[in-house]
Formats: sequence, C-alpha cells, structure tokens
Amino acid sequence: MLKTRITDLFGIEHPVIQGGMQWVGYAELVSAVSNAGALGILTALTQPTPEDLAKEIERTRGMTDKPFGVNLTVLPTINPPPYEEYAQAIVGSGVKIVETAGRSPEPFMELFKEYDVKVIHKCTSVRHALKAQSVGVSAITIDGFECAGHPGEDDIPSLVLLPQAAEALDVPVAGCGGFSDAKSMVAALALGGEAIVMGTRFMATKEAGIHQNVKEKMTEADELSTNLMFRTMHNTARVFKNSISDQVVEIESTGSATFEDVKDLVAGQRGRVVFEEGDLEHGIWSAGISVARVKDVPTCKEMVSRLVSEAEEIIDGRLQSVKA
Ligand code: NAD
Repeated sequence: MLKTRITDLFGIEHPVIQGGMQWVGYAELVSAVSNAGALGILTALTQPTPEDLAKEIERTRGMTDKPFGVNLTVLPTINPPPYEEYAQAIVGSGVKIVETAGRSPEPFMELFKEYDVKVIHKCTSVRHALKAQSVGVSAITIDGFECAGHPGEDDIPSLVLLPQAAEALDVPVAGCGGFSDAKSMVAALALGGEAIVMGTRFMATKEAGIHQNVKEKMTEADELSTNLMFRTMHNTARVFKNSISDQVVEIESTGSATFEDVKDLVAGQRGRVVFEEGDLEHGIWSAGISVARVKDVPTCKEMVSRLVSEAEEIIDGRLQSVKA
C-alpha cells in the first residue's frame, strides 16, 4: 500500500489520478480507473451541454461506487462554453471532487466551498500554485513541460518543477507530465509528490473510448513523437506529431501567423474524429512525451495493479540495494 495525503484526501486506494482529457474522459474510462483504486476524472467540456454532463455523471455512478471527479478547464476555445453552468451541473450532481485547469479557480471557489467540493487545481508554475492555494484549493497538480495538452510557457520539466512546488506549498502536490510507470511514480514520490496524474498512459487502456488505431500508434511512439504548437500564441499545446501538427508548426514558423491561420487545422472537432474513426492524420490529438513509455494496451485494473506492485518492488528492492 502506498499511502499519502492525497490518498487520504480523496479516499482512494492508490496515489494515482487520471487527468482530465478532452474527448477521452467518458464514464467507461473514469469508472474503470476508479474501480482500479485510482481516481477517475470526467471531462466537463467533452459533454456538449451542462445537462449532458449531469447525465454522464449519473452514468458513471451506475458503473462505480468509488470516488471520481470532474475536470473543468478554462482555456481559449473556438466556441466559449458556459463555464458557470457546467460548474452548477457538477455541484448539482453531488460530485465532491473537481479538477480545475487553465485559469485561476478563484471565480468558482465560493460555489465549490458551499457544496463541500474538494478542488485539485492543475497548473504549470509554482506562482500559480501558490495563488490557487491562497484561494482555498485542497491540492495542486503541477504540470511539467513533458505533459500533454497545455504545458504553459515556462518550459520547466517535472524533475525540477515538482520538488519546487512540493517545497513551496502546504497543500499536497501531485506530479503530472512524464509519469507513466512504476519508475516514474517512485521518482515522483521521491521528489515530494503525493500522487501522479497520468493522461497519456490512461489513453492506451482497453476502457479508453478511443479508436484502436490511436492506441496502437501510441505503443509505436518514441520520445520524439510529440510537437509543440501555439508557441507563438502563448497557448502552447503538446500534441502527437502528425502531418496536421507539423503543418501548424510550419505555419507558425513564419513568425506572423495568427490563430485564424491555423484554426481549421486545430479545431477540437477534427481531433475528435481521430479518436472516433481512427484516421490518425485527420486532426490534432494530445499526447505527452511519456507516450514513449507506452508499450501495451492493458485494462485500467491491470495497469494500475502493475504500477503499484512494481513501485513497491523498486522501493523495497532496487532502492534498498543501492544503499551502502
Ligand atoms: P477548440 O476546438 O475550441 O480549440 C482547439 C485548440 O485551439 C485548443 O487547444 C484551444 O486552446 C486553441 N485555441 C482556441 N482558440 C484560440 C485562440 N483564440 N488563440 C489560441 N489558441 C486557441 O478546443 P477543444 O479541443 O474543443 O477543447 C476544449 C477546451 O479544452 C479548450 O479550451 C482546450 O484548450 C481544452 N483542452 C485542454 C487540454 C489540456 O491539456 N488541458 C487538452 C485538450 C483540450
């Protein structure tokens, strides 16, 4: 058993959290993660309306009696969603764990506190983590530069960012970005982390509702298989390297590109087709550098059990053996 303040805080068996993933975080995956003893996270904006989110929460409840949470991300979007109504759907459904990301959670904290919701805020810098702590979040996920999606603009990898955050904060910190297996999990615990958050690794599981072609492509990837786009627009996103993300990087390299120049290529609706139909070159899809470490497509239970038992072996075996 690996026990930390985060396992206590969320009432979970293992210090493992499945990060919110647009077009991936559906009830099947989330319930499988929670049933495996980790924390599953639904993704609010994957649902077309707040009413659909409430239904998805109910569907998840029908598949697990273990704790799960909902991710609410506030970032630039082509069609800004009604964030406040999504937040109301979350609290109205009785969800008690929320992962916020993208912007300061401050505007939502009064509502979440009123409903006894524990907030874990995902951010990419120690200064943003301190701000979130000051407005009352229960925990922080610190997103290193290796992460999928939006790593921020500071480019600090988890090896430095996680211990910096863990030392600066009083609330517990989960490491995100680069974590995928027992080795990296033990490293996170050594660095002061009290859980790991994994998105990419959970995409390549049997229960993730994305096309088999995507999962197989992930098992063939290496450490050079991601692209960073939107660098010039201060909205950097790490995505899988394909012909579409290569084109976006190329357009941005002219130095004068605006969002309008790439909008049709990057639309999330196109990326969604990749996941649903398995056409890997149809659009943009997020992946972290840890995709290099994805070698198989297990069930969530197999993956989490293996992760925890191998982590214990490393702690009791290899780490003890190097001690003189
Ligand atoms: P979308 O179709 O609205 O936009 C596609 C991409 O373009 C997103 O990365 C978005 O941030 C970016 N974008 C939109 N308008 C922009 C602008 N004016 N300037 C610069 N960049 C712009 O997004 P979607 O795929 O439907 O996703 C919905 C939301 O979830 C977005 O806010 C997206 O950023 C977010 N998301 C977050 C992650 C993450 O890692 N946290 C991963 C996927 C999506």
